[in-house]
Amino acid sequence: MTDTTTTGTATTVADENVSVAGVPTGLFIGGAWRAASGGATFPVRDPSTGEVLAEVADATPEDGMAALDAAVAAQDAWAATAPRERSDLLRRAFDLVRAHEDDLAALMTLEMGKPLAEARGEVVYGGEFLRWFSEEAVRIGGDYRTNPEGTGRAIVLKRPVGPVYAITPWNFPLAMATRKIGPALAAGCTVVVKPAELTPLTTLFLVELFRRAGLPDGVLNVVPSLDAKGLSEPIIADRRLRKLTFTGSTPVGSALLKQAADNVLKTSMELGGNAPLLVFDDADLDTAVTAAMLAKFRNVGEACTAANRFFVQEGIADAFTAALTAKVDALRIGRGSEEDTTLGPLIDDRAVDKAARLVDDAVSRGARLVTGGRRVDRPGTYYAPTVLDDVQPGSDILTTEIFGPVVSITRFATEEEGIRLANDTEFGLIAYAYTSDFARGQRLAERLETGMLGLNTGVVSNAAFPFGGVKSSGLGREGAHEGIEEYLESVYVLTPDPFAA
Ligand code: ADP
Repeated sequence: MTDTTTTGTATTVADENVSVAGVPTGLFIGGAWRAASGGATFPVRDPSTGEVLAEVADATPEDGMAALDAAVAAQDAWAATAPRERSDLLRRAFDLVRAHEDDLAALMTLEMGKPLAEARGEVVYGGEFLRWFSEEAVRIGGDYRTNPEGTGRAIVLKRPVGPVYAITPWNFPLAMATRKIGPALAAGCTVVVKPAELTPLTTLFLVELFRRAGLPDGVLNVVPSLDAKGLSEPIIADRRLRKLTFTGSTPVGSALLKQAADNVLKTSMELGGNAPLLVFDDADLDTAVTAAMLAKFRNVGEACTAANRFFVQEGIADAFTAALTAKVDALRIGRGSEEDTTLGPLIDDRAVDKAARLVDDAVSRGARLVTGGRRVDRPGTYYAPTVLDDVQPGSDILTTEIFGPVVSITRFATEEEGIRLANDTEFGLIAYAYTSDFARGQRLAERLETGMLGLNTGVVSNAAFPFGGVKSSGLGREGAHEGIEEYLESVYVLTPDPFAA
């Protein structure tokens, strides 16, 4: 069924369990939905069946340039709007996101595979970036300073950096878009978004909600494309662009940083992780197991924040592994749209092959397979939840972001050894630690090489806190007050000492 009255080309996206009407399938440029120049489209598939859900316009490099033109044309007027106006737009968009919780959750489940309950959680989490930055929009300050010599006064003011290009991944289709769009719009920047080609429908629906919220033409533009590189290169090379924000893999982020260097762009990079999860002998076992399940299996492990390497102290290791394995065996594999599913499919065949390869490599190097370790014999791209114990040094799983439902456990003896193992990685996005010793928690906070630490908890993400990594995990922070600074420049105006004769 197609509906062309409000959105250009829109369609109904559905499976046997859920259905969403009015999902746009075009490009959104300069305030209007349109087809790709040349009319090409690409299919979006349901990873739980492999079936095509919708055909989406496939933006060409010319379309990408048209989107940048629209963002550039709208930039000055948007920067000049009253903060309250930008705030109100974001607040209306937040209200619409919450009013469409069921639609957005169903769309994410359909195109990405996560269970509906988790998708609903992402609508709440992703929506919060719009509410938070609607509140930040009216709190962009400056300050007044005296130079050390006492001979001058500076007024420091904040200005929007200018047009932004945002590239988002497929694993959190809503939240990864709102955590970039929210602060950019709040700061007074216009935006071109390229959603992941595997999951463009959620972003398209989100932008339609912005349109209904009263989005001025050109302020937010969306260009899904199968040709991410061909579309992005000319945009990033264009002198009118001022900011590149990316969430995705470290190799792509690093390649984008090289391109951004030619244009000296301000950049924010949220890249890969290899999160350690430390369980100490003095941890509360129930807390540690419950939190570790979340840290590992939320989103089928397809999160840059997913616990990748479990390090468990010897005194608690047997009890922890047994209790965790019992919970892992209780996970219900199924399509995300079935209400009792707690573990959905992986995003595609490549993801399943990767999990299988890492498990086979670890076992061949001496790890003990406690449970799982196999593909699931049903349509769609599933891998059984897996626990490996006694994973040996040199196993690929210790240096690779798994992005799948596999627990890799290595035992350690002392706090010193645990910290050394945890830091033995090029990445530094997040760490998890379970201990009832507060001073140990503080030592970990000061010594773990990480941008975030979940202490006795399994999920840290919150729009009010500065999300981001150190080392190869990226540059910049998303969320919190820091999140809007990424879209602002400081300008200072120096004046003479007003008391000088
Ligand atoms: P993943 O491996 O998790 O899919 P990627 O880093 O490949 O992560 O993809 C994240 C986002 O980056 C997606 O929107 C994808 O289309 C985009 N992307 C991938 N390669 C490039 C590239 N060379 N230039 C610009 N964007 C890219």
